[in-house]
Amino acid sequence: MGYREAVEDQIKIKRISPHEQMYLPLCAVCGAEVTSLSYNRTFLYLCIEHKKLRYQLKKQMKIGRL
Ligand SMILES: [Zn+2]
Repeated sequence: MGYREAVEDQIKIKRISPHEQMYLPLCAVCGAEVTSLSYNRTFLYLCIEHKKLRYQLKKQMKIGRL
């Protein structure tokens, strides 16, 4: 699943075993490679740093709403 989309979107694919592969989409913010076991075109991939940042931002937004 996701293999054809990844090929079409020119996402790097790394084979880790005969039946499994890792996808290397780019972080939507900084363009760093993100390792993922599946690829979904509609998903926003973020590197570890930006994931953290988004998590903090979400937390802040929740607090702001209270
Ligand atoms: Zn990033």
